[in-house]
Amino acid sequence: MPKRQRLTAKQREDLWDAEYAKSIEAKRGEYPICNICDLPVTPGQTWHDSHNKYWPHAVGGQRDGIAHARCNLRHNNIHDTPLVAKVKRQRQGFIRARESRRPVVGSRASGIKVFMDGRPPVYRDSGRPVFERRKG
Ligand SMILES: [Zn+2]
Repeated sequence: MPKRQRLTAKQREDLWDAEYAKSIEAKRGEYPICNICDLPVTPGQTWHDSHNKYWPHAVGGQRDGIAHARCNLRHNNIHDTPLVAKVKRQRQGFIRARESRRPVVGSRASGIKVFMDGRPPVYRDSGRPVFERRKG
């Protein structure tokens, strides 16, 4: 996963200026436009550099303008963090790092061996029968 990177003041200034130029070109006013809520980011407001709305930076998304800090954090909490968590779970499943907590009885992951020919099931480690008939 790409590391979070802190931008310098000069890099943030250049980012603002690039978004400002886009806003002027699109005749959207004299302030950069938040790429999440589509409203202007005015100089008093805190803002973040924002990445692709559907493809977060954590899974390789590219920079896609600037956003209000509030919009970006909200979008992160609602969309990005759950998506990244799901991506991690899916990868763990793909590489078989995850094991079922309740394996199907008789499967290799369970400790019980079930025979197809009608013999009673036994524990894999000891070979002892699972069900023992009481004597007497
Ligand atoms: Zn916004």
